[in-house]
Amino acid sequence: MTNDYIFLAPEAVFPIIKDESGNSLAHRPATGFPLAGTLQGEGKMAGVPVLFVRTAGCNLRCMWNLPDGAVSLCDTPLASFDTRGEKKVEVNSVKNIILNNLGKMNHLVISGGEPFIQPEGLVTLIRALKAERPLHVAVETNGTLFHKELVDEIDFFSISPKLKNSIPTFEKLEKTRTHIPFEPAQAEKTRRNIAVLQQFIDHCIAIPQKDFQLKFVVQHHDELVEIEESFLTHLTGWKPDDIVLMPLGSTPEELRQTRMVAVEAAIERGWRFSPRLQINYFGGVSGV
Ligand code: SF4
Repeated sequence: MTNDYIFLAPEAVFPIIKDESGNSLAHRPATGFPLAGTLQGEGKMAGVPVLFVRTAGCNLRCMWNLPDGAVSLCDTPLASFDTRGEKKVEVNSVKNIILNNLGKMNHLVISGGEPFIQPEGLVTLIRALKAERPLHVAVETNGTLFHKELVDEIDFFSISPKLKNSIPTFEKLEKTRTHIPFEPAQAEKTRRNIAVLQQFIDHCIAIPQKDFQLKFVVQHHDELVEIEESFLTHLTGWKPDDIVLMPLGSTPEELRQTRMVAVEAAIERGWRFSPRLQINYFGGVSGV
């Protein structure tokens, strides 16, 4: 990996209206608005105006069984399952695109895929951006990898640990006709890293102006037991307010099947419920 390049998914920086030279793009972004930016759709920061950067590549390949028997794939498959459309982009170019599109927004979200598989270029990017203007930077990660230099540059950690139900079993792969050079056993070994999760929490406790959330995707009551027994009992320093339950699904129809489990459990435990505003308002198309 190099400090000078970042591998980005096809959406790259989004939603935008200007290129790296400041020239207007021919088409409106996928939001349909004549302006750059969108709302963060999930978690503690839901509703905050943001610009996204989507990195390519992930160390997991999540897929879930839905209550109706269908299989729901990772909601950013072009950043995880199929990265043939990835672009190798110079950090300086990414920086200029961001600066030309931020407008009055003060929040940047680095999402994936899994951003922590390519930390060096992201460290260079965030330092360059923060040298130009004040910026609050969030990262969306699966919480399996830690890189001290990158963590030092981030203000908010949206950590989404993956439960057993995310493992791409052979049955799910067959059902979705998905072929990946990836064994289910590899996902089982990689997806849960308590030591890394604790490092993120400890980092935020040590620096009070930083914050984090542990965001779990759920659809069954059984999964709440798994969250408590496989994750939370092994972690210290979190508050109920840091635990976010988000219903499984990448379409309005899928969310209708799963959301009430998350609503009820959040109320019962004093945790947070997370909407998926990007699906409600923009239909979950990419680039919003
Ligand atoms: S960790 Fe996130 S980006 Fe990676 S496969 Fe799972 S849902 Fe997709």
